Amino acid sequence: MSTTTADRLVDFDEVLTRYEPVIGLETHVELGTASKMFCGCSTTFGTEPNTQTCPTCLGLPGSLPTANAAAIESTIRIGLALGCRIAGWARFSRKNYFYPDIPKGFQTTQYDEPLCTAGHLDVEVDGETYRVEIERVHLEEDTGKNLHVGGSTGRIHGADHSLIDYNRAGIPLVEIVTRPIPGAGAKAPEVAKAYVTELREILVTLGVSEVRMEQGNLRCDVNTSLAPTGSLEWGTRTETKNVNSLRSVERAVRFEMRRQAALLDEGQRIFQETRHFHEDTGSTSPGRSKEEATDYRYFPEPDLVPVAPDEEWVASLLAALPELPAARRTRLSDEWGIAPTEMAWLVNAGAVELVSATVAAGAAPADARKWWLGDLARRANDTGTELAELAVTPAQVAELIGLISAGTINDQLARQALDGVLAGEGDPAAVVEARGLAVLGESDELVSAVDAAIEGNPDVADKVRGGKVQAIGALVGAVMKTTRGKADAATVKRMLEERLVG
Ligand SMILES: [Zn+2]
Repeated sequence: MSTTTADRLVDFDEVLTRYEPVIGLETHVELGTASKMFCGCSTTFGTEPNTQTCPTCLGLPGSLPTANAAAIESTIRIGLALGCRIAGWARFSRKNYFYPDIPKGFQTTQYDEPLCTAGHLDVEVDGETYRVEIERVHLEEDTGKNLHVGGSTGRIHGADHSLIDYNRAGIPLVEIVTRPIPGAGAKAPEVAKAYVTELREILVTLGVSEVRMEQGNLRCDVNTSLAPTGSLEWGTRTETKNVNSLRSVERAVRFEMRRQAALLDEGQRIFQETRHFHEDTGSTSPGRSKEEATDYRYFPEPDLVPVAPDEEWVASLLAALPELPAARRTRLSDEWGIAPTEMAWLVNAGAVELVSATVAAGAAPADARKWWLGDLARRANDTGTELAELAVTPAQVAELIGLISAGTINDQLARQALDGVLAGEGDPAAVVEARGLAVLGESDELVSAVDAAIEGNPDVADKVRGGKVQAIGALVGAVMKTTRGKADAATVKRMLEERLVG
């Protein structure tokens, strides 16, 4: 079932001539703790369905939860990194609703007393800083996973039966909620992406989650609304659920802006609803209506004691925070001798950590930047993937750069070696060996190629002999052609000069 192709869309630039977007993001992060939030079950990803469950996470009568201390600590550290106020007293609540993936009949979450409130995160887009206010960071538990079998879309519509895996039920989940973000205008899609990118970097730096978006460790709900330019009231928002990549966050905002503008242009209203995002088309389709607020009958969880973080402990966690990404970027800019604008390119390309790791593996900063922002960025762009998802590691890029520095290969051969690495043929040195990519030294092969170039172009050779030294370029080109780029141009030039200029 797809209703998305029928959506009329207003040209993106045109949207901004009549409307102002307001965005907001709710991000769910699965913490990387060894055990679940309220029981001792393992959190290992990808095991046989329903092998990591117990009476507590299945909600069997008589079972009692115990809060995971490591998860509480991680949540507070996230809050501190986002400049939040840490509550001296926080409670868990029951959010009651019936759904197959929630075996207890309620989700244990934090409602009116979250652990962290009132923070912010500054993000940069095109040299401008946007402050994203964080409303709250709270701790809850993940749900199980439904698998709808028999349909074409994987959704419940059209499926003939459904299976449920409770391995994920009860894994600690942190929800980070922004306040509405007005004023980003045409940059709203990029601000949304930049926010999630920066947040992910922080989570990686804190080491609290694996943050693998493709495994669902980090999932975004993207809220978008439009209001007529100059209007004092914000428009009705839609909530695009479970957007699973950074690029998709940007696309989801962009699509919703264009779709909503078309409806508003016609005098129609926007329905408050959840929407599904479709990776293949970059479009959204209607989900559940939120026109009527669901009453979850929240009440304080009677089986758990409130959390009361000790002030001194919180202060010690703050003091022990690692260097955060923004500060790290400033330091690296200095160390690598690059301007803030170039660092911004690296950030936008998602390349800071990759370049840093490549430098740590022995490459010069300028070379590492050149490869990640150049050839590799182009390949990622061509295949529509994130840079970090390319099948090449920073260590392999450093090895490639090392082979170039050593004169084993030149840039052109390095690109061919990279093809091999990305195709899974092994490390650069192995690919160079297997594909025979090494630059030719003064081998017999090169000597005969040089001789052949002179014999094949007698006029040019005579010009060079007669003092027109710049004509040698044509001969170098001929040698490069016969050796299919495997010769080192400087070596070829020297060999030609030895023969012609003496
Ligand atoms: Zn369990």
